[in-house]
Amino acid sequence: MNNICLTTKNELCTGCGLCEDVCPAQAISIKRGVENTPTVNLKKCVNCGKCIKICPGIGCDIEFLSKNCFSDGNIKKDYYIGRYLETFVGHSNDNEIRYHSASGGVLSHFLIYLLEKGLINGAVVTKFSSSDAMYPETFIATSKEEILSAKSSKYCPVSLNGITKKILAFEGKVVVVGLPCHIQSLRKRLTFDSKLKEKIVGLFSIYCSSNRNFNAQKFLLDYYKIRREDVTKFAYRDDGCLGNMKVFVSGKEPLLNIPFIDYYGALRSFFKPRRCLSCIDHYGELADINFGDIHIAPYSNDRIGVSSIIVRNSKYRSILMQAVHENVLSIEPIPCDIVNESQKEMLYPKQRKAHALMNMDRLLHRMTPVYDKELKKPYLKDYVSEILCNCQRYVGRHPFLWFVIRILFSHKISKEYKR
Ligand SMILES: Cc1cc2nc3c(=O)[nH]c(=O)nc-3n(C[C@H](O)[C@H](O)[C@H](O)COP(=O)(O)OP(=O)(O)OC[C@H]3O[C@@H](n4cnc5c(N)ncnc54)[C@H](O)[C@@H]3O)c2cc1C
Repeated sequence: MNNICLTTKNELCTGCGLCEDVCPAQAISIKRGVENTPTVNLKKCVNCGKCIKICPGIGCDIEFLSKNCFSDGNIKKDYYIGRYLETFVGHSNDNEIRYHSASGGVLSHFLIYLLEKGLINGAVVTKFSSSDAMYPETFIATSKEEILSAKSSKYCPVSLNGITKKILAFEGKVVVVGLPCHIQSLRKRLTFDSKLKEKIVGLFSIYCSSNRNFNAQKFLLDYYKIRREDVTKFAYRDDGCLGNMKVFVSGKEPLLNIPFIDYYGALRSFFKPRRCLSCIDHYGELADINFGDIHIAPYSNDRIGVSSIIVRNSKYRSILMQAVHENVLSIEPIPCDIVNESQKEMLYPKQRKAHALMNMDRLLHRMTPVYDKELKKPYLKDYVSEILCNCQRYVGRHPFLWFVIRILFSHKISKEYKR
């Protein structure tokens, strides 16, 4: 099989959506569902293999590609972070941006800086759609207002289908913001698409421990008895570091305003996409810069917002320093070990758990993703954890079993808003 059916048939799709655009025969379309997945019109497929060539689902030569992309003389290497130049902690100096972004607003404010300095003409970012306040929509932002309309994290499937066609038709240079799987696919495509390479001058990734499918939104709305069509504004994270989930149905006051840490943790693994379980790329090793939270004292005591940043490319390091010099951002170097420690709960077991799942899948003669990186040997607890996670996923996929989640969820989360 020389097309993306290989990925979907083996449940390896990340839902990145980028295969749709690369198909020269328009044979692929992304289907919206609990997760977004591609479908192939086999009558149209010309068997060129481009879709599978850029697919992050089947795996990725992360080591090989990162070696080719990040070859600066001062480059360092860390097992978890990959190749990098320097790691930082910091925040936007605009308190509004800092307070209303996911972490410290460094990412959004840096995009605005790049735009205002004329270093880029657009930034590919993801906002909630104007026709459905809980559905993500990726677009090319060309103003400060548009970049800010897309601030903060979207914990639901985000597919970038259509965007590379728009970039190719766009007058000017862009940077693309995405999850590690989006970045892997784009990096693969840039190895053979020189036209796209002329347009994309930077790939920025947010860290990702794992995503959630659309059933997570459905569960939350059901639990709080809110009709999706009544939602006028929605944020997974707003108001300060980590922040709150806010749901507006009318007016200026949110109907729900729940600390992120409460509801997100309480959802456990019920709604994790399967492919996230075999992902080994927490930070986005193929991006020029990565942005994330920093869950470690003293930074975790911050209530306004603080981000951690990994820079892999000297061009972006010097622009970042310029932004600091011009008082746009406040950032300072920190050792990479602190960044890793701040992510330790999800980061340290991630590759072991992925390895455990892959071992079990191989036993069942299932196809697994292939990486050019030696993965840590799993412990027994990693196998147990993956089995438990898959049991939870089974419940999450079957709404008639959601009473189990409701019971566990209600223990964790304040019922103040329950109606
Ligand atoms: C699914 C998911 C899992 C994450 N896991 C971790 C984690 O384990 N550890 C950690 O430290 N941080 C994690 N993050 C990242 C964190 O939530 C923040 O996005 C990051 O700290 C950047 O903060 P900021 O204030 O600098 O960014 P902001 O200024 O708020 O900008 C965020 C940018 O990311 C884009 N974006 C948001 N969500 C998506 C998405 N789903 N797909 C593509 N683009 C998107 C937005 O369009 C915006 O441009 C995760 C984010 C997501 C979406």
